Amino acid sequence: MYRKKLLDLLLQQPMSIRDIAELMEMPMRDVASDIEHLSKSLKRTEFILMIEPAQCQKCKFTFRKNKIRKPGKCPRCHATWIREPVLHVTHR
Ligand SMILES: [Zn+2]
Repeated sequence: MYRKKLLDLLLQQPMSIRDIAELMEMPMRDVASDIEHLSKSLKRTEFILMIEPAQCQKCKFTFRKNKIRKPGKCPRCHATWIREPVLHVTHR
């Protein structure tokens, strides 16, 4: 039930883990693990989870796509000004 809601949300609009956690009133780590499960369960469906990876706002270093939570700091320039990864579900 809850995963269906998560799917509906992400079909409507791109959201970060933080956005979802605030909306659902859940801890970010729980949302992150639910997103991982959702991503796997979508593999056999018409939908696909798209991840716009986190990016350092200072040097534009782009983090790996599989990192869905916001990293603490940039490994290249050590800045903490990081844009959160944004998740979105779309049709294949
Ligand atoms: Zn950087």
